[in-house]
Amino acid sequence: MSTSDHNIVLHVADVHMRFGGLHALADIDLEVEEGKTHAIIGPNGAGKSTLLNVCVGRLAPTSGAVVFDGQIITGMKPHEINQAGVARVFQTPEIFPDLSVLDNVMAPAFARRDGAFKLNFLGNMHREAEIREEAEHFINDVGMTAELDTHAGALSRGDKRRLELAMCLIQHPRLLLLDEPTAGMSRHDTNTTIELLRKIKERGMTKVIIEHDMHVVFSLADKISVLAQGRIIAEGTPDEVRANPKVKEAYLGSTQE
Ligand code: ADP
Ligand code: MG
Repeated sequence: MSTSDHNIVLHVADVHMRFGGLHALADIDLEVEEGKTHAIIGPNGAGKSTLLNVCVGRLAPTSGAVVFDGQIITGMKPHEINQAGVARVFQTPEIFPDLSVLDNVMAPAFARRDGAFKLNFLGNMHREAEIREEAEHFINDVGMTAELDTHAGALSRGDKRRLELAMCLIQHPRLLLLDEPTAGMSRHDTNTTIELLRKIKERGMTKVIIEHDMHVVFSLADKISVLAQGRIIAEGTPDEVRANPKVKEAYLGSTQE
């Protein structure tokens, strides 16, 4: 099959990011195809989170552009990019600690209809039962039905990340970006999360997963780009990347783990 048959959902075009004298990203070109799970792996400090932050509008690149669904999103605000259909799970979960699990998942559904959360909240009051049902569906999806009424702040780290995933799913994003979705999780929670990401994949959602742990992505990714010292040093299927000596070198050469 020729690649021209595929729709490119996200295109990172010649992106550079400098922090003072540090070239955190250099010459980054990346194409993410519709329905695929594209992993970006690399040792600590490689620039993975920086790349994700550029994609979601938290950082403006020094040069280059990010194109989502044919539209240049560089320069747009994070919430505008989110409204355009990009949802993301950050390395540190962003949840409302004082709200219940259910209310946390309902919140983005109220907000999604047209932006301004408070105004919209009133406008969507009549839809509360419907949104509640939808939220319960996604909470069940991430295996947290027993925690429906638990305050989010009291959840374990793994559960907080699963909650954040449910908060993303209810937005029905066109593109889901995940920054180390299993970081800090126990082996058991990691496996549950991998299963969940597989399930999402079967539904055809386009995903970019940033990972430090190679084992997590080898079972999930259709395509892997390997980042080291701000540059893409290898790209291909999991098998191709596994066999690439440059990749082993990058990991062995890194001082941290
Ligand atoms: P990774 O997610 O792959 O571990 P990061 O993208 O967090 O790597 O960091 C890449 C490099 O950029 C690191 O050397 C880091 O110290 C540096 N860096 C990241 N964010 C900033 C920032 N806001 N200001 C200065 N340096 C930064
Ligand atoms: Mg990171």
